[in-house]
Formats: sequence, structure tokens, C-alpha cells
Amino acid sequence: MRFLGVSVHYSNMKHICDHDLERYHLGMVKDESELAPLEEHLLACPKCAERADESADYVDAIRAAIITGNFDL
Ligand SMILES: [Zn+2]
Repeated sequence: MRFLGVSVHYSNMKHICDHDLERYHLGMVKDESELAPLEEHLLACPKCAERADESADYVDAIRAAIITGNFDL
């Protein structure tokens, strides 16, 4: 069995999941032990940084909908 070209740089941490990206954008990640490696990974990993941007757009769209009252619960 061969390794599938996984970069050693990120081997100590999995990619950030969408849920954590949303929590990060909302400022819900307050624990330094979680926040520090998360920010470090975002700086080192263009893929996750890009997904963080998309997640931010998504969260902002929902927020805007809530504020303008178009969020039909
Ligand atoms: Zn990543």
C-alpha cells in the first residue's frame, strides 16, 4: 500500500470541516486550544481558506435574511 501524496505539513491535523468553518466565522470558536490550530491551518491551507470564504458568504447570506425578515421559520 502506498501513501497517496498526502502532504506532511497537514498530517497532524485534518482539514477543517464546514461546521467548524461556520463556527469560526460566527466567533463561536473561543477555546484557544481549538482556535490556534484552526487559524494556523487556514494560513497554511489554501483549500480551507477558500472554503472559509465560501462559508462566510453563506453565513452572511443567512444573517442578512434574518435581519431583513425574509427568513421564514
Ligand atoms: Zn485544509
